[in-house]
Amino acid sequence: MAAHLIREWTGIQQFPTATKTKLFDFLGKLKQENVSTLTILVMGKGGVGKSSTVNSIIGERVVAVNALQSEGTRPVMVSRSWAGFTLNIIDTPGLVEGGYVNDQALEIIKRFLLNKTIDILLYVDRLDAYRVDNLDTQIVRAITDSFGKEIWQRGLVVLTHAQLSPPDGLNYEDFSSQRSKALLKVVRLGARMKKQVMQGSSIPVCLVENSGRCNKNDCDEKILPNGTAWIPNLVETIADVVSNGGRGIYVDLKLIKGPDPNERGKILIPFILAFQYFFVVKWIRRWIKDDMPPTWE
Ligand code: GDP
Ligand code: MG
Repeated sequence: MAAHLIREWTGIQQFPTATKTKLFDFLGKLKQENVSTLTILVMGKGGVGKSSTVNSIIGERVVAVNALQSEGTRPVMVSRSWAGFTLNIIDTPGLVEGGYVNDQALEIIKRFLLNKTIDILLYVDRLDAYRVDNLDTQIVRAITDSFGKEIWQRGLVVLTHAQLSPPDGLNYEDFSSQRSKALLKVVRLGARMKKQVMQGSSIPVCLVENSGRCNKNDCDEKILPNGTAWIPNLVETIADVVSNGGRGIYVDLKLIKGPDPNERGKILIPFILAFQYFFVVKWIRRWIKDDMPPTWE
C-alpha cells in the first residue's frame, strides 16, 4: 500500500485569525498531554452533512459533497499537519440503504480502519429533523457492535443545518436542546447504555452550520444563531473528549471479526458435558434399568 500522504494543513490559514488562535491553543494543550495525532471517524446516515463537516473542519474542499444522497462506497482519509500536530479525518459513506443499516458498507469501513486508532467518533445528523426512529437506534447499535461500547466515550453528536429558525413558539436553545436530548436517547438505547452510565459520561452535542451563507461575527468567524463560533467550539469539545474520555479504539482483526467462534464454543463445553450427564446419561440409565427383566430370586 502506498504511504498515506500527509499534507501541510493549508486550509487552517484560511480561517479568521480569532479561530486560528483558538485552534492553536486547543491543539497546543493536547500536545502538552503528548497527543500529537488525532484520528477522527465521521459516521451517520447519507445526506446529513458528513462530508461537508469534514470540509469545514479542514478548511478546504477535500471530499465530495452531494446534494443527492448518493455517496461513494469507500471511506476516505484526509490527513493534514500543522505546528507539529497531525489531524486525520475519515469520511465514510452513509450507513443506510433502502431503510436498513447497510452491513456491507459497515464491513468496508471496518476493514478500512484496520490497524488504525479511532480517537474521536463524530456521529452526524441534522438539527432540522424532527423525529428519531428505530432506524437511528439500529445505526447506533451497528456502530456499537462494530467498535464496542467504549467508542461512545470518545463520541460526539454533531448536528448540522444549525442555522435555522425554530417552529412557532420555540426559541433556538429550547429547540436545539430538545433535538439533542432525543438523539442522545437514541444513542443510549442503541449503545445499550444504562441510564446512569449515560448521565455519568454525557456525550457532548455540537451544532454545525456548513452552509456558505452561515452568519459571521465581527471577527469573521462563522456563528450559530446563538452567537457561538462553531468551528472553535467543535474543536475545543473534541480536545476535551480526548483529554477526559477513555482510551482511543484500536481497530485490530479481533475487533473486526468479533470473538473467535472456536473460543466461544470452548466456553460452552463444560456446560454441554454437564447437560449430557444430567439429562441424557441419567435418563438412559434409568430407561435401561426399567427395561431389564426382573432378576430371579
Ligand atoms: P453526507 O452524505 O452526509 O456526506 O452529506 P453532504 O456533506 O454530502 O451534504 C449533503 C447536502 O447537504 C449537500 O447539498 C450539502 O451542501 C448540504 N449540507 C450539508 N451540511 C449542511 C449544513 O450544515 N447546512 C446546510 N444548509 N446545508 C448543508
Ligand atoms: Mg458524504
